[in-house]
Amino acid sequence: MSHNANSGKVALVCGAGGFIGHNLVRRLKREGFWVRGVDLKFPRFSQTEADDFVIGDLRHQDFVKHVVDRRFDEIYQLAADMGGAGYIFTGEHDADVMHNSVTINLNILNAAHAGNNKRIFYSSSACIYPEYNQLNADNPTCAESTAYPASPDSEYGWEKLFSERLYLAYGRNYEMEVRIARYHNIFGPEGSWDDGKEKAPAAICRKVALASDGGEIEIWGDGKQTRSFLYIDECLEGTIRLMRSSFTGPVNIGSDEMVTIDELVDIVAGIAGKSVRKHHIEGPTGVRGRNSDNRLIRAKLGWSPSTVLVNGLRPTYEWIHAQVRKKESVYIRAVSPRELSRSAAE
Ligand code: NAD
Repeated sequence: MSHNANSGKVALVCGAGGFIGHNLVRRLKREGFWVRGVDLKFPRFSQTEADDFVIGDLRHQDFVKHVVDRRFDEIYQLAADMGGAGYIFTGEHDADVMHNSVTINLNILNAAHAGNNKRIFYSSSACIYPEYNQLNADNPTCAESTAYPASPDSEYGWEKLFSERLYLAYGRNYEMEVRIARYHNIFGPEGSWDDGKEKAPAAICRKVALASDGGEIEIWGDGKQTRSFLYIDECLEGTIRLMRSSFTGPVNIGSDEMVTIDELVDIVAGIAGKSVRKHHIEGPTGVRGRNSDNRLIRAKLGWSPSTVLVNGLRPTYEWIHAQVRKKESVYIRAVSPRELSRSAAE
């Protein structure tokens, strides 16, 4: 889309300090939008390109009213209390995950409606799909129409499902143009890689980057669980296409190139040029199998993701490898030669 087509247009990105939101701001800026970003924090790895970046807590109604103080052409709601399997599937954060995310969604919808905002995007998740359809690693079912009878395997998924319904209700009752995507495992450079919120591709890239050639890495579960992973650029392309289409959704935005976690490790090891042994250990793994069903997105948008997994993993591994090396060199510089010789003598 040309710069001019969107000049004068304004967008709000909630969760603009996060992985997808930060990249979405970049994309909207390239398209000529004036962008306001909102988050609890600035993006971690590079500077935001937002024209206005407001730091604050979207759980607070007054703050949300303050940031939704005008009519935006497009509102993207990506803020959520979320993380990788180690955060979502242990159960330890259930109350926070549900309370925080649902409060954010209630506040944003309320303020958007009060300000007569019409077009709003909500980022739901593949985690809404029922566990009973994802027990078979080789043949999981994630067609949009199979969401009910609902039985997500995590409270994170239940919150997303409730919030989908909340957005749809606002759409019906207040004539808002709601757009809902169910994202499936988005990855790429500048995503979480070492803070406990990283997902499988980043965690495996980190483990492979840290391993020596011929070394061993730990894998949660037996490695036979299946997933698909979508590269960030295609996530953004799908998001923008959906937002500007006439289709409400919910629709999957994901890759349909399904791999086992062991295969994912092999691809990353291949990129790194290392041979690694896999040591399978117990850990939170989520459902047994999951893949994006892309029939609906193809039918409604005439488009679906097509980048092969290895092509997204290459820049991701390179970036994580660089982060690992940066961290190692900081550690080495922090420990002076005198300290090293002292600790060696002890
Ligand atoms: P992320 O955690 O990097 O970004 C979410 C952002 O929301 C964070 O920067 C966080 O600080 C912000 N936030 C949380 N609570 C807030 C609050 N109270 N006030 C203001 N900001 C707050 O996650 P992401 O990977 O960029 O995901 C974006 C959205 O897409 C989320 O809603 C997530 O549930 C959904 N999603 C992501 C994936 C994926 O694979 N990344 C998959 C399915 C769904």
